[in-house]
Amino acid sequence: MKTARAGFSIGSEILGEIGYMDCNLIHCKFVPMTIEDANRLLISSLVGLYDEREVASISSLVMERLTGMPKSLRVTHKTDTFLIRQDELFQSYLSDLMNHRPVQYVLREAWFGPMPFYVDENVLIPRPETEELVDWLLNDSYSKHSGLTILDIGTGSGCIPVYIKKKRKDFNVMALDISEAALQIAKKNGKVHDTAIEFILCDIRDPGQWEKLEPVDLIISNPPYIPEKQKQLLEKHVKDFEPSLALFVPDMDPIIFYKTIGHFAIQRLKPGGMIFLEIHHDFAKDIIEWYERNGFSLELRKDLSGNNRMIKVGRI
Ligand code: GLN
Repeated sequence: MKTARAGFSIGSEILGEIGYMDCNLIHCKFVPMTIEDANRLLISSLVGLYDEREVASISSLVMERLTGMPKSLRVTHKTDTFLIRQDELFQSYLSDLMNHRPVQYVLREAWFGPMPFYVDENVLIPRPETEELVDWLLNDSYSKHSGLTILDIGTGSGCIPVYIKKKRKDFNVMALDISEAALQIAKKNGKVHDTAIEFILCDIRDPGQWEKLEPVDLIISNPPYIPEKQKQLLEKHVKDFEPSLALFVPDMDPIIFYKTIGHFAIQRLKPGGMIFLEIHHDFAKDIIEWYERNGFSLELRKDLSGNNRMIKVGRI
């Protein structure tokens, strides 16, 4: 019996490496697992680590990657058996997931809206709240102007500038990050999605580096905003795997990045320009007060979960 099946469209990552395995060989020890077996094992292993909805979505992502088939096809092919390389990958994914490694890092892919992004432990996993922030910016009346220059501060995977450039080819899009490793990933994502974006290595906290940045019409940022002392409240798959640099701020000054971006905007945001920022709901009041005190106009929005999550700041 051959374990490769006609009509079984598996990813080139897998096919390219193995072809098929002939189990008529006398010394063959590989006992192929069916798609149904693998799915069941995956789900039962993840129960307890994640809630029911997350278990369903993680197992679906993993099974889709392994088989190259969407759910509807996996159902009709449930008795198909794994190739030896698929089985190896399955075991490795399973062990990573059971060690709490986020599925996006395991599969090296995260979705931002309809777009896939390469991710690994050097960058934050894009979140749905950030999609809401970007959609707010794109639908804002100010964005109706064509040819605007926009800067994303702390770009990580590059999800924000790539998504924006894809929707608004007329915008001049720039993105910066303090991490060279993150910028490499952002550039890679920019290339995969065929977008022309200027990526800049820059520590925004150092005003000496602002000179290399030209004046902009729009600023967007999802800066680090979780105080160190809240680290223990986070789930293991977040606190042990996502980059601390992208998540945490000192307990003494949790709104440090908002103040930095405000000072930067005073120098580099064109009059009439706008800033769109994701925020921590605990600090909405402090952030709003700071911007109003410094002469900016402000609008607060909740995310889909009902938490104060983003602000639009105007330079009057
Ligand atoms: N801009 C990226 C994102 O929103 C990275 C943000 C960060 O590293 N704090 O996913």
